[in-house]
Amino acid sequence: MTDHRRTVPRTDALLADPRLAPAVDSRGRDVVKTAVRQAQQAVREGSLPVDGLVEAVLAALPPAGTSLRPVLNATGAILHTNLGRAQLSAAAVEAVVTASGATDVELDLVTGRRARRGRGTLAALREAVPAAGDVHVVNNGAAALVLVATALAAGREIVVSRGELVEIGDGFRLPDLLESTGARLREVGTTNRTSLADYRDAVGPDTGFVLKVHPSNFVVSGFTAGVDPGDLTGLGVPVVVDIGSGLLAPDPLLPDEPDATTTLRAGADLVTASGDKLLGGPQAGLLLGEAGLVERLRRHVLARALRVDKLTLAALEATLRSAGNPTRDAVHADVDVLRTRCSAVAEALRRNGFDARAEESVAVVGGGGAPGVDLPSWVVSLPADLAVPLRTGPTPVAGRVEDGRLLLDLRTVPVASDGTVVDAVVGLR
Ligand SMILES: *Cc1c(COP(=O)(O)O)cnc(C)c1O
Repeated sequence: MTDHRRTVPRTDALLADPRLAPAVDSRGRDVVKTAVRQAQQAVREGSLPVDGLVEAVLAALPPAGTSLRPVLNATGAILHTNLGRAQLSAAAVEAVVTASGATDVELDLVTGRRARRGRGTLAALREAVPAAGDVHVVNNGAAALVLVATALAAGREIVVSRGELVEIGDGFRLPDLLESTGARLREVGTTNRTSLADYRDAVGPDTGFVLKVHPSNFVVSGFTAGVDPGDLTGLGVPVVVDIGSGLLAPDPLLPDEPDATTTLRAGADLVTASGDKLLGGPQAGLLLGEAGLVERLRRHVLARALRVDKLTLAALEATLRSAGNPTRDAVHADVDVLRTRCSAVAEALRRNGFDARAEESVAVVGGGGAPGVDLPSWVVSLPADLAVPLRTGPTPVAGRVEDGRLLLDLRTVPVASDGTVVDAVVGLR
C-alpha cells in the first residue's frame, strides 16, 4: 500500500501552481485554499490520485466571482430563510442580466432628461394592485416599516397591539426596529386579546398612526380577539398594516394569509410587505396605499438611504409581470405530480443501489409566511448518513433529517432539477 500522505504536495506549492494562478487572481487566495485543502484531504484518504489534484481543485471552486454556492432546496420549506428565501423566476434572472450594465433606470431616452427611477416597476406594482393609490419600493420589509415610522411618527406615538409586537427572526424585534426611529410605541390590549375600545382609548393628538402587524411566524389560538384593519378606519389617524408576506391578491390555498388588495379595500391607508416571500421576487420592501402618504414617504430624506438597486427593480418588475415563479409553483404544486416525481427519483436511486423510497410528507411555506399551514407533499427518503455528503458535495442539496432518514421534499425543487437530484446522490458513490 502506498503512503498517500507523503506524496501530497504542500499547500503553498499548490497555490503557486501556474494552473491555479488565474483562479487565485479572480476568486481570491482563501477560496482556492479551501478547495486545495479539500483536495489534499481526498488524496490522503486515497479517494483522489495525486496527479488529479489540480484538476480537482479547479472543479471544486465555486462559480467565478462569488463564494455563494447554488443549493438545491429539498428541505420542504418553500421560503427557506437560510437559503435566501424566494428563488427568482427565469424571467427575473433575465431581467437582472439585462439591467446589469448601463440602463435607462433614471433616464428618458426620448427627451434625454432625467426620469423617475424605476417607473416601469412602480407601474407594474400599481397595475397588480389597483386598490393602491400609489406605491413605493424600498430595500426590504423592515426598511418599509422604518420609513413609515420615521416619516409618520418620529417623536410621536405608534399605537399597536401587545399581541403584534413580534420578533421577525434572528433576534430582530419589530418594537426595537420601530423605536429606533424615534417613535414611541403605545401598546394596547393584551397578548391574546385587543379590542376596538383599546385602540380608541389610546389614539390622541400625539398618535402618528395605528399599526397592525400580521403575525407571520406564529399562530395564537384559544381565547383570542383582535380588530380587523377595516374597523380602525374611523379613528382619525392613518392605519398602517404590515402584512409581511407580500401576497398582492387572495390565494385560496392560503386562506388565512392577508393580501394587499383585500387589506386596502378594507380601509387600510398603507400596507407594507416583503418582495421575497410569497410574491416570489427579489428582496424588497413594498409600500402601497393612499397617494398622499406614499408621496410623503417617497420625499422623506431617509428614502434615499433605503432605495433599491436597479437589479432589484428589474427582478421585481419581471416577477410582477410574469404568471409563475418558483415560489408560486411550489405553493400550487399538484400532489399527484409530486408523488410521481418522487417515485421516479426513488426508483432511479434504487437502480443505482441506494436504499430509497417515496413517502408522503408535509411541506411548509416557511420564511415568515403562512404559519400553521401544512402543504401535503411527497419526499424521497434516504439513509440519514447521506445528509452531510449531499450538502457538501459538488452540487449541494439540502434536505431534512427526520426519524433517522434523510428526506428530500420535491415540492421545493423545480421539476427541471429532478435529474440533478438523482445525479447528486449517485455521485456520492
Ligand atoms: C418578514 C416580515 C418582516 C420583515 O421583512 P423583511 O423583508 O425580512 O425585512 C416584517 N414584518 C412581518 C410581518 C414579516 O413577516
